[in-house]
Amino acid sequence: IVVSALKEEQPHEKRVAIDPDVTKRLIKAGMKVLIEKGAGVASYYSDESYQKAGAEVVDRQTALSQANVVAVINLPSDATLDALKSGQVVLGLLSSLIKPEKMQQLADKKVSALSFELLPRTISRAQTMDVLSSQSSVAGYKAGLVASDAYSKYFPMMITAAGTVKPAKVLVLGTGVAGLQAIGTAKRLGAIVSGYDVRPASKGEVESLGATFLTSSVSNGAGSGGYARALTPEETAAQQKELAGFIADNDIVITTAQVPGHKPPLMVTQDSVDNAKPGAVFVDLAASELGGNIAGSKPDETVVTDNQVTIIGANNLASELSNSASQLYAKNVQAVINAMVDKDGNLAIDPKDDVFSGLTATTNGEIINARLREALK
Ligand code: NAD
Repeated sequence: IVVSALKEEQPHEKRVAIDPDVTKRLIKAGMKVLIEKGAGVASYYSDESYQKAGAEVVDRQTALSQANVVAVINLPSDATLDALKSGQVVLGLLSSLIKPEKMQQLADKKVSALSFELLPRTISRAQTMDVLSSQSSVAGYKAGLVASDAYSKYFPMMITAAGTVKPAKVLVLGTGVAGLQAIGTAKRLGAIVSGYDVRPASKGEVESLGATFLTSSVSNGAGSGGYARALTPEETAAQQKELAGFIADNDIVITTAQVPGHKPPLMVTQDSVDNAKPGAVFVDLAASELGGNIAGSKPDETVVTDNQVTIIGANNLASELSNSASQLYAKNVQAVINAMVDKDGNLAIDPKDDVFSGLTATTNGEIINARLREALK
């Protein structure tokens, strides 16, 4: 089995899908690994480090044409997808539900596509494959650092000969995987931290980190699979109102709220931005072209408002910690590849397996994932 990793094509992307450690592990398991020249450079993995691990460093054309499994971070360009052939497997964060037509194109060519966004995350066997968790965890950690870096005051309380500085107050909205990591970072930096979520189950997790949980007035916002449900317009309005007071009382607001299949909920309204203290820092991990959790946030951009509030569109933070993020992503990739190898050592995707029936966008010319089939109707 030949596995390759490509150099990512997006200008903001610094991660790589396979690191030298996983290269070694795949080779030990009897596979061959091809790495596109320079693929790991932005993650500080040199071509030499891959060669030392046993990989061949090759040009893009070779990495694409010779591989049985092509591992990527993001959905490749059309030119790259066009170069894939029948029988090959492409594995990555393929944006399959946002761009279902690309999955149909791959299906038409009988290329198999495994899209990490589709992984059924609550199956325990899938946990080692869970890219959304590994990358959210990295992004949440970094969010705390990005916020403190943009803030003009100390995070911790400082008692000095020149006087005492009060600690920063940090509010984290959405306390799933990323939010809990953001809380952990802000606590370690010495801030006073509170968290807020509509899933009652997150209360204990927030409190176990030493932060205060702000109980939502939304009655049970838990949906299926551990995720939040979309709120009704009335609930959204009530939430925005209850949050306005909390937001005005904090120096830093980090937002991470997502609802699968919906655009991110708007939690920090324009009024809340207008009423924030000068110097307040808002970090929006849900920033997207469709809008994020914070009014006025823009993906990959930092906006400073007239009332001196810094709004950071931090949709790509995992890539900013490229080395660690790639290390964890590669482990997730390895777990999927291991699960694809059958007892005779051949590559086989079983569309009836409960993990692969979710993860597989397409194999053998069929669209497998039920949500994707729905999206293509
Ligand atoms: P996510 O990225 O979908 O959302 C982030 C957070 O935003 C969630 O906690 C969600 O409840 C919250 N949110 C959404 N809308 C909101 C609103 N209007 N107001 C307030 N908060 C809102 O979620 P995630 O971080 O991927 O994980 C969600 C849950 O799934 C967590 O409990 C996590 O532990 C669980 N999970 C379980 C497994 C597993 O069982 N293996 C794997 C991954 C995640």
